[in-house]
Amino acid sequence: MTPAQTDLLIPSSIVAAILKHCRAEAPIEACGLLGGPSALRASSHYPLRNELASEVRYLGHAQDMIEAVLTMRARNERLVAIYHSHPASPAIPSRVDLEGNQYGPVPHLIVSLAAPAPEIRAWRLESTRFEELRWREVVEPESSTQ
Ligand SMILES: [Zn+2]
Repeated sequence: MTPAQTDLLIPSSIVAAILKHCRAEAPIEACGLLGGPSALRASSHYPLRNELASEVRYLGHAQDMIEAVLTMRARNERLVAIYHSHPASPAIPSRVDLEGNQYGPVPHLIVSLAAPAPEIRAWRLESTRFEELRWREVVEPESSTQ
């Protein structure tokens, strides 16, 4: 398998929507889900309210989660990734992220707003360790967004 085939692909419109959501919520951590037709391709963005309204941890609001999952089912999507922001720290999983992971091997995107240019990194979390995943922004025509 070539590295290119294992990249998680995220349309530029969704990358922009994630960044907008994370900036709007700062200094609170923002969180959300990405759905798509296959494990490595995101096609929908589901921002969630952070039930903890915390600057250092997040928990997707239960009602928002239910609505996102129902919409994914109606669209025949699967859960492709979880994202959350680190408003003031690097895009690296924290101990809280590892201990609080409720999504098993589903990729986690972490959006850091700590530097002037935002950084998004993808990770697979285990209880005591994490592994970086490759992802790539896909530039798409305007007409294919939402
Ligand atoms: Zn985190």
